[in-house]
Amino acid sequence: MSFLLKNGTLVTPGGVLTGDVLLRGERIAAIGSHLPCPLGTEVLDCTGKLVLPGCIDTHTHFEMNKGLPNETADDWASGTLSALCGGTTTVLDFAEPERGASLQSALDTWHSRAEGHASCNYGFHMTIKDWNEAIRAELPAMAKQGVSSYKIYLAYQLRVSDAVAYEAVKAVSALGGVTGCHCENGELVELGVKEQKARGNLGPRAHPAARPPAVEAEAVCRYLAIAERAGGAVNVVHLSTKRGLELARAARDRGQPVYLETCPQYLLLDDSVYDLPGFESAKYVFSPPARSREDVEALWEAVADGSIDTVGTDHCSFTTEVKALGREDFSGIPNGMPGVEDRLRLLYTYGVAAGRIGLERLVELLSANPARLFGMWPLRGALAVDSIADIVIYDPNITERISTKTNHSACDYDPYEGMEVRGRVDTVLLGGEVAVSEGKPVRTGLGRFVHRGGAQFWR
Ligand code: MN
Ligand code: MN
Repeated sequence: MSFLLKNGTLVTPGGVLTGDVLLRGERIAAIGSHLPCPLGTEVLDCTGKLVLPGCIDTHTHFEMNKGLPNETADDWASGTLSALCGGTTTVLDFAEPERGASLQSALDTWHSRAEGHASCNYGFHMTIKDWNEAIRAELPAMAKQGVSSYKIYLAYQLRVSDAVAYEAVKAVSALGGVTGCHCENGELVELGVKEQKARGNLGPRAHPAARPPAVEAEAVCRYLAIAERAGGAVNVVHLSTKRGLELARAARDRGQPVYLETCPQYLLLDDSVYDLPGFESAKYVFSPPARSREDVEALWEAVADGSIDTVGTDHCSFTTEVKALGREDFSGIPNGMPGVEDRLRLLYTYGVAAGRIGLERLVELLSANPARLFGMWPLRGALAVDSIADIVIYDPNITERISTKTNHSACDYDPYEGMEVRGRVDTVLLGGEVAVSEGKPVRTGLGRFVHRGGAQFWR
């Protein structure tokens, strides 16, 4: 099937223009004004609408903790459907080996969960928990299988030592990949949790108190020092604080290649979410936690001035029933929340429509930069001739409220419930096929694994 996207506002790598996009098969065949319509081509009128390259979510956790009481609500079917309906055509999820197991075992497991179930395309970041010669020797095999990005943690039980972080960054970097890091000081978090409990603070309000900004700042500082010594480019995932941002900027000023991801929750929510009545605030127990207004404003400035490179959701959906595992003790509340469907609308509304960022910056954050950093550019992340026709047609003329009633996540709440958003994802094309039409999914299960190459660094 061929499509002619007619008379839209096109956000291309060369700028924003009004024109047409001709698709042939799974590729973009032509971009221009008043393109002729070949025989057998279906016209999609894009007048008054935005035509964007499909969004890439750099950070999801679908079907996490599988089989355990704290399993996520979204599996690969519902998670990727939710992503698709929100204008995300590719997600990068975190494959995680069991302790002591090979990277290959995790890759095989994640493939088996996603294949045949995914409604958007997908790739995997590989989590490094252990480090030894066998793991090191697996890295080239991962690259051959299209996995070029890694993740380590400085918090939680799966946290690695500074020496392992160093070895991982060095080895991944030598293969042209990038290592992302969850930057919180795990020991300080555990200490903070103990302190809160000793004071009798057992509700969700104690969650942010146990992991204040200093806990992130220390880990960002340490990770950047480790990366400097290892000599590799690194990515700080879900950056939440002004202090962390300042440390990253200082490192960049010294010439260090540092990439920064933040998430909609650090731009749209603040720590007042921990003052909700009863156990409501458990919905907002995610890590790092929602921060102060000052942090929120600093991150928006960084989104606008180019300091932030990508915005991923950290979609990690637990139902309110699963959140209740921590009803008597906040440290038992599973960390995470949904949001994979809301990212484009939130960033369009509170970024573009609010006058904080332009359309080109929006596309950089949600599509182009993720494609570059994670080895997919320019086949994906660009509205350009010869690129894959993963495309979003966005209608900015509609005002709606976010609601679990209309979104597609299997989670029973949406953290942005009731929030007013400008615009809606009208149509999504996945590999040149219409997967969403008039805001509704019309083709599911079209998602394919994206074999990724090395990072294309720009810092
Ligand atoms: Mn994390
Ligand atoms: Mn995460």
